[in-house]
Amino acid sequence: MSIFTKIIKGEIPSYKIAENEDFFVFLDINPNAEGHTLVVPKQEVDKLFDLDDELYAKLFNYSKTIAAAIEKAVPCNRVGLSVIGLEVPHVHVHLVPLNQMADATFEKKVKLTEEEFKALAVKIASYL
Ligand code: 5GP
Repeated sequence: MSIFTKIIKGEIPSYKIAENEDFFVFLDINPNAEGHTLVVPKQEVDKLFDLDDELYAKLFNYSKTIAAAIEKAVPCNRVGLSVIGLEVPHVHVHLVPLNQMADATFEKKVKLTEEEFKALAVKIASYL
């Protein structure tokens, strides 16, 4: 079972933003920038391009909805989208508020307090 499946099942805590039948959305614990969010299919599939066409399309449509809420909640130039998966073998879309190229590199990280994570999750969710 992946660490994200454990989060989806509530066995590991997360700063949850939203959930629907197919997806679970929460803040990345080691964010590139404030508001860095993960959109994860509940179905545990390792690689993005192995998703069936319907779930693949739904993932990007739902990510668009979540990105619009992030853009309202977090001051940024735009919200970027990446799919990597080198660390966690369970499909996830990274949505990262971008102000500079370094925000997209996964090398520069920001440290947030528990209170800051909680407030960000609540604020993003309030725009959904
Ligand atoms: P990737 O697999 O796309 O290379 O990176 C996985 C991402 O998941 C990383 O940005 C990492 O910070 C995040 N991540 C890994 N474990 C956890 C976790 O237990 N909780 C949360 N919220 N994020 C995690």
